[in-house]
Amino acid sequence: MLMTTKPMFDLAYDGGFGIGAFNVNNMEIAQAVVEACAAEKSPVILQISKGARAYANIRFLRKIIDACVEEYPDVPIAIHCDHGDTVDLIRACIADGYTSVMIDGSHHPYEQNISLSAEAVKVSHDAGVVVEAELGMLGGIEEDVVGLDAAEYEKNVEQFLTDPQQAKDFVERTGIDSLAVAIGTSHGAFKFVHEAKLAFDRIEQIMKLCPGLPLVMHGSSSVPEEFVNLVNKYGGKMPNAKGVPEDQIADAVRKYGVCKVNIDTDLRLAMTAKIREVFSTKPEEFDPRKYLGPARDAIVVMVKRKLKMLNSAGKADQVAAHWKKLGQPMPNQYR
Ligand SMILES: [Zn+2]
Repeated sequence: MLMTTKPMFDLAYDGGFGIGAFNVNNMEIAQAVVEACAAEKSPVILQISKGARAYANIRFLRKIIDACVEEYPDVPIAIHCDHGDTVDLIRACIADGYTSVMIDGSHHPYEQNISLSAEAVKVSHDAGVVVEAELGMLGGIEEDVVGLDAAEYEKNVEQFLTDPQQAKDFVERTGIDSLAVAIGTSHGAFKFVHEAKLAFDRIEQIMKLCPGLPLVMHGSSSVPEEFVNLVNKYGGKMPNAKGVPEDQIADAVRKYGVCKVNIDTDLRLAMTAKIREVFSTKPEEFDPRKYLGPARDAIVVMVKRKLKMLNSAGKADQVAAHWKKLGQPMPNQYR
C-alpha cells in the first residue's frame, strides 16, 4: 500500500520502533527488500538516489516499484528521493510518483540551506508530498555526496554535529516534515577508524527543542564483520571496513525515538559477498540468475535482520490503519 511517511513516523515517534529506508537500484534489490518486509509484516521506505535514477533509468525503476506495491498490497510503502540537491529534481520526483523527498542543502551555508529547503517544502506540500532536509555534516562518501574521510571526521566530530538550537530555527523557518541529523554517523563502508559512538545526547537535545519532529539517521549501515570477511575471503578488498554497531542503532530507535534509518551499504555488502562466493566456488557458472538469485536471497536475510533491529517487524497493519484514518489524499501522481 502506497503512502507518505507521515503515518509511519506518527507511530514510530514514540512507539519504540523506526522505519528502515533501503536504497533501491535494480530489480533484485527491490524484490528482496519488499519480500523481507512482507514476511516480517513491516512498513518500509524504498529510497532512490540521483545515482539510481541515472543508473536504472527512472522509467524502469518506477515500474519495478509499482510492481512491488501491486505484488505486496499489505506492505505500507513510501517512495522517497534520497539526497535530492535541486528543486528541479524534487519536481521531477513528484511527477514520477514519489510520496516523500529529501532536499539536502547541508553542504551550503546555513541561510542558503534554509531557502533551498523552504522552496522544496512549498513545491512538495502543494502536491501532498512530505519533505526531509538535513542539517549538520556527515563523514564518508556516498555517490556524489562527499564528506570527510574517517580520520579527519572523527578528530573534529563535535563541530560537524547538528546544533540543536540551529535545528529549532531551521525547522521553524522551513516547515519540513523530518530532519536528517549528524550525530556521529558516516556514509559508506569505511565509517570509523576507532570504535563508533553515536552522540545520543545530541538526539535528546534536538528532540527536546523540536518536539514532534521525526529525526532521520543517514550513514547507518553496520557493515557486519562476517560479510566483510566473506568479501575478502573470496577475492575482495575491503580492509578495515567498519560501520555503526547494530545495538547503537537499536538504542537510537527504541530508546531515543529516531524515526527513519537509512541502509544502503549493508545491502551492497550482502549482494557482493554472495556473488563473489558463487564466482569463486563455481567458476564454471555463467547464468546470471544463478548468482543474482542467491544475491537476492542474501539481501532478504539482511533486510529481515534490520527490521528486527529497528523493531518495525509486525507494525504493518497498525501503520496501514493509521494511514486510512488520517484520510489524506495520495500525492498528485502520474497514476
Ligand atoms: Zn545519506
